Amino acid sequence: MANVVAEHITKCFGNVKIITDFNLEVNDQEFLVMVGPSGCGKTTMLRMIAGLEEVTGGNLYIGGRLINDVPPKDRDIAMVFQNYALYPHMNVYENMVFSLKMRHVNRGEMDRRVGETAALLGLEQLLKRKPRQLSGGQRQRVALARAMVRDPKVFLMDEPLSNLDAKLRAQTRTELKRLHERLKATIIYVTHDQVEAMTMGDRIVVLKDGIIQQVADPLTIYHRPANRFVAGFIGSPAMNMLEAGVVSEDGRPALMLGDFKFTVPGGLEPLLPYLGRRVTLGVRPEHVMVEGWPAAQPVPAITAVVEVVEPMGAEIYVYLRAGQGDLTARLTADTVFRPQDRVRISFDLNRLHFFDQDGARINVA
Ligand code: ATP
Repeated sequence: MANVVAEHITKCFGNVKIITDFNLEVNDQEFLVMVGPSGCGKTTMLRMIAGLEEVTGGNLYIGGRLINDVPPKDRDIAMVFQNYALYPHMNVYENMVFSLKMRHVNRGEMDRRVGETAALLGLEQLLKRKPRQLSGGQRQRVALARAMVRDPKVFLMDEPLSNLDAKLRAQTRTELKRLHERLKATIIYVTHDQVEAMTMGDRIVVLKDGIIQQVADPLTIYHRPANRFVAGFIGSPAMNMLEAGVVSEDGRPALMLGDFKFTVPGGLEPLLPYLGRRVTLGVRPEHVMVEGWPAAQPVPAITAVVEVVEPMGAEIYVYLRAGQGDLTARLTADTVFRPQDRVRISFDLNRLHFFDQDGARINVA
């Protein structure tokens, strides 16, 4: 296995710059997830690593070897796509050994690799079936198996689960993660699904308009998003964003949210440079408290009206309208609210996020 290094990668299609100064080191055996909205350049980045697309500028290395000019077949990578791309006229076994035959791997070795991989992915009973005789999930496993028998240094996966229904996607997500533990492979996995990113990645790269916004482990991304975009993109329901004024209270910064002036337990000293200006206050839905749920901490107390209540099973999402803006609260399922209820809401003051007017994070705690 091997590490993958991208150094100052740029990519243009005609005059349009799609990737700007992309720098990243994917560690050997790491499961790295690249996430971002549609059109942000994820697939293009993956295709450049695969050699299916040329880089406009910068260098790419796999296992320390400069690969800019190395043809795809010599890069020792395997790609798994969203649409499986299985050969329809070949059965599972033939699909799996196709690339091995091209490499003149001998029969015994081929059978050994197929046997091992099929056992790992639970495909032993399906080797004689054609792709059309398989379910979506089984086809996905065959696509994966076909990549695995080649024993590549690096797996590149482009939304491989997006054709599966929700239940199967969740199941395959776990399987893939488990498989990674066993394979000890370097995996670069592209998705627009932030749940996949959070649950699967050792580290996550958040991309927007071809520019890296943050590279970090999932919990850092969640608890310390580098900017407002990352904060809003990762987490479901999305982080609440409210505009607040920074005012002085006895010479120390405080926040003004509508009529409410408040500060936080550790103080707001880092907001001193913003006195007299506005900042964006970010609050995760699980850190919004609604009238005693969880136990009251009614300062600041904002009045809001319940608009929609969504039961999710173990918890409920409550959509609220307040003078200061719309808010979502994520509460335990034993809370009872109805549309049009007037409630008082508050926040966990130790868990607030702050962003400047350019969207950059201001570290307060
Ligand atoms: P999605 O999640 O929708 O697949 P993505 O993040 O993978 O999106 P890319 O497929 O990498 O995005 O595309 C990035 C941008 O580059 C898009 O604006 C797309 O239209 C453009 N693009 C991709 N391939 C080409 C091409 N061959 N010629 C011109 N523009 C292209």
